[in-house]
Amino acid sequence: MRFYVPTDIYVEKDCVKNHAKDLLAIGKRALIMTGHTSAKLNGSLNDVTEILAANNVPYQVFDQVEENPSTDTVANAAQTAREFNADFIIGIGGGSAIDAAKAAALLLVNPSLAADNLHQAPAKPLSHAPVVAVPTTCGTGSEATPVAIITNHKINLKKSIPHRIFPALALVDGKYLASAKKSLIVNTAVDALSHMVESILNIHSNTFNRMCPEYGLKLWSQCKDALLSDTAVDSSLYEKLMLTSTIAGMSIAMTSTAVPHGMSYDLTLSKGTPHGPAVGYFLAAYVEICQKNVPQDVAKILSLLQLQNLGEFYEMLRKLIGTCSVTREMKDKFIAAMKVNHSKLELVPGGMTPEDIQYIYDKSLVVE
Ligand code: NAP
Ligand code: ZN
Repeated sequence: MRFYVPTDIYVEKDCVKNHAKDLLAIGKRALIMTGHTSAKLNGSLNDVTEILAANNVPYQVFDQVEENPSTDTVANAAQTAREFNADFIIGIGGGSAIDAAKAAALLLVNPSLAADNLHQAPAKPLSHAPVVAVPTTCGTGSEATPVAIITNHKINLKKSIPHRIFPALALVDGKYLASAKKSLIVNTAVDALSHMVESILNIHSNTFNRMCPEYGLKLWSQCKDALLSDTAVDSSLYEKLMLTSTIAGMSIAMTSTAVPHGMSYDLTLSKGTPHGPAVGYFLAAYVEICQKNVPQDVAKILSLLQLQNLGEFYEMLRKLIGTCSVTREMKDKFIAAMKVNHSKLELVPGGMTPEDIQYIYDKSLVVE
């Protein structure tokens, strides 16, 4: 058994300010990558630039990262970093900004690697510039994973790239959630939930790495009522939500995500469905299928979430993210692709039959 998360992670209020020294130790010239607006509004960009400016560290801001970042965006960011002579990259935002920062950090020091080839397995591991991650959503845990999920629109592919890029430093502060809409908090919290469930219902799960998802599910269940209620999430829960998301990231860093994530990518590509719900729609049916082979693991998950049975798990997800409708044609296309997605299918404890795959889609999507 092995536990390997080489990222230096701090979780606390005013984290960036408190750990300025750690941030400054990473590099001398920074490219900061963010989405279009949120990092400016929630104070995270200002927290970082204040430290850099006060310590005479030159920086440039690239604020063009879109949701589900593309190979073209990552290529533009790497080019900007190269022209600026950046030696490290700071990703501030949700998983999109942090994943894009990881991919740009790889391209920056490997100029012969084209962004369009990011999804091809390298002959040998490639180095990358150091990455600092400042998350502002409570879902992907990208600050604690080696994963970058990038979309190549030219070949209609959304997938993790095969390069492993752990951030050198993660500065996690719940206060950035203050500007997030309830729906963003719920959607991203469902992603974190999925990471922990998929990490347990996974052939790479073991007693050592389970300490993360099992503890994280306990924390998640303490936020459950607030997520389900009609009112805004109380600010006293922000840090717990962020911590849970980071722990969920550490969970998948050990095991990788499983079938629901594999199913989500085509849904996001076809319908633009945000990542959390795109995964969450498939989660309960995946748990139901796994119940056949690992009933004790499913019982543990339900008990940590303080749910009586699988029916309550289905109901909870339906209340959080609603339902998803697709055309018959889309659904058939998704099923055909999933049946040959061996890298995800081989992670299922006890395996998964074509009938199981069909069952998950039938239970999870409404045909228009
Ligand atoms: P996101 O795509 O990064 O951001 C979603 C939206 O939320 C954006 O419009 C963003 O605005 C806004 N936003 C971010 N922080 C905010 C805040 N504090 N207040 C208000 N608005 C805020 O969402 P995400 O769910 O965090 O990331 C999803 C991506 O991560 C997907 O591509 C998914 O596949 C990937 N992912 C990665 C991993 C991993 O291990 N690396 C794991 C799971 C998923 P701006 O655009 O203005 O910033
Ligand atoms: Zn996810």
